[in-house]
Amino acid sequence: MLETKTTRVTRDESGVILETGDGRTISAQEVLVAAGRTPRTGDIGLDSVGLKSGAWIETDDTMLVPGFDWLYAAGDVTNRALLTHQGKYQARAAGDVIAARAAGAAVSDAPWGTHVATADHEAVPQVTFTDPEIASFGLTAAAARRNGYDIRVVDYEIGHVAGASVRADGYAGTARMVVDEKRKVVLGMTFVGPDVSELLQAATIAVVAEVPVDRLWHAVPAYPTVNEVWLRLPEGYGRPSPSASDEPREILRTGRL
Ligand SMILES: Cc1cc2nc3c(=O)[nH]c(=O)nc-3n(C[C@H](O)[C@H](O)[C@H](O)COP(=O)(O)OP(=O)(O)OC[C@H]3O[C@@H](n4cnc5c(N)ncnc54)[C@H](O)[C@@H]3O)c2cc1C
Repeated sequence: MLETKTTRVTRDESGVILETGDGRTISAQEVLVAAGRTPRTGDIGLDSVGLKSGAWIETDDTMLVPGFDWLYAAGDVTNRALLTHQGKYQARAAGDVIAARAAGAAVSDAPWGTHVATADHEAVPQVTFTDPEIASFGLTAAAARRNGYDIRVVDYEIGHVAGASVRADGYAGTARMVVDEKRKVVLGMTFVGPDVSELLQAATIAVVAEVPVDRLWHAVPAYPTVNEVWLRLPEGYGRPSPSASDEPREILRTGRL
């Protein structure tokens, strides 16, 4: 019900009762409030340096505000990726680049360099700590399509892996892998289920390292763990053609890895 005002919310032993402006009553187990965020920059003197008071603060990937050589911003105020871990990541890049620039040292500001927060763009992990949890990394299918990628989506019921039955009776959850069809690398993962946040770091490494799906076949998950979903997803995607795997085999044979 869009464009509907909530006029009253009460809780009783059966759950939560919402009353709407048009006189309807809705009963629910819980209420999730998604209120969004606004920058709290109205009282820090942004206008005194020509920036808009109360607005988000734009930065480049070294966290430097365009038009300045001394003003940096990190965290939610940049509107890049509004999460604690991304704010800390941005602060690490900013701290290092401020020190490097002050010392006249080399600055590594190409994508994935020491002094940039490249991951903010398409490589952000996040967990919605509901029950069950929703853990995601990188791009959803919709975001990937919006960004112009040609993608393939693989879905899997996490409850089907042996490790899930060890974790809980009747474990139910889903996993989705979004693959960039051009490069055959994972662009994003979404897991829904109990404790799925613990699956997230493997997704983070697979996406940031641009691990090809045919190499994921060799990242063998221990049996019986919920991580076996990392076996089922590449299976769902399909085995690589022999030519696609020639190069990695050669590297292994010659001992360069
Ligand atoms: C309900 C909720 C749940 C969240 N859960 C998660 C989560 O589970 N995981 C996660 O990663 N992120 C979560 N976040 C997001 C996370 O809180 C923010 O991304 C993170 O705190 C941003 O850090 P920050 O340092 O940029 O800003 P903040 O943490 O907001 O810090 C800014 C500080 O500046 C202070 N300040 C403001 N104005 C002034 C002034 N004029 N002078 C001096 N001090 C000032 C503020 O009081 C505040 O202490 C959640 C956010 C909300 C609202």
